[in-house]
Amino acid sequence: MTTPELPPLREVIARYGLSASKALGQNFLFDGQLLARIAAVPGNLEDQDVLEVGPGPGGLTRALLAAGARVTAIERDQRCIPALEELGAAYPGRLRLIEGDALAVDAPTLFEGRPHIVSNLPYNVGTALLVGWLSGAWQPWWQSLTLMFQREVADRIVATPDSSAYGRLAVLAQWRSTARIAMPVHRSAFTPPPKVMSAVVAIRPAEPPAGVDVATLERVTAAAFGQRRKMLRQSLKSVPGALAALDRLGIDPTRRAETLSVDDFVAVARTIRVAE
Ligand code: SAM
Repeated sequence: MTTPELPPLREVIARYGLSASKALGQNFLFDGQLLARIAAVPGNLEDQDVLEVGPGPGGLTRALLAAGARVTAIERDQRCIPALEELGAAYPGRLRLIEGDALAVDAPTLFEGRPHIVSNLPYNVGTALLVGWLSGAWQPWWQSLTLMFQREVADRIVATPDSSAYGRLAVLAQWRSTARIAMPVHRSAFTPPPKVMSAVVAIRPAEPPAGVDVATLERVTAAAFGQRRKMLRQSLKSVPGALAALDRLGIDPTRRAETLSVDDFVAVARTIRVAE
């Protein structure tokens, strides 16, 4: 497909009066090369379905369409819709727009196959959506996640044991997926620039370990990291069967949560289940 001629993004923003709203966490990206690199993270998108949450004026949307994707975009700010409709007209039949709050949209029902999800979202919405996308049934309804986060949140997603960033989010993101930082993004790349640095995180689903109940795993990690400075024998007291599971697995109960690997947490959850 040939890439259509489009007006510069800054001109679109001026024409439609899209001044960045702080309340909606709007920090826009204009650098076409950077946007193309983000759109390349999931791999070849030719004729692939992509869900983009928060397209704003459509910078990343342009890059996804140029990469050959069919894009479904959910945007809360109605001011952006006319600008996005103009973009959709340049790519007939390739851009479906949904005006609304992504936290309230039942996204899986929008697709017949498994879409890639690619988004540059405000931090709080992004984390809430990520937790939802990682918590459902496996294999998930999506093929891959490519998401911009504040660097600190990105570091928590990919964290390894024995670090202060390691916690519930790392276990959730890694126990049945691979998560990596695809690229750091300098704050100056955004308009207006946010106070902190960002990074794009890439997540792919993996084979889930057998015999693990998600609710049990979540309960164990919530209890363990809820009192992360305490020894496991204290923090896991409230989880029935957890201390017996540590014993059976030979995990020293005087250790703290952040010293356990993701596999250790999986083993504890599996052992509790077997003992139930
Ligand atoms: N994707 C554009 C870019 O990269 O330049 C805009 C990114 S801006 C950080 C975040 C976008 O998400 C804004 O357009 C904002 O209006 C939108 N947004 C914020 N909360 C949302 C929500 N709950 N549902 C859908 N979109 C939301």
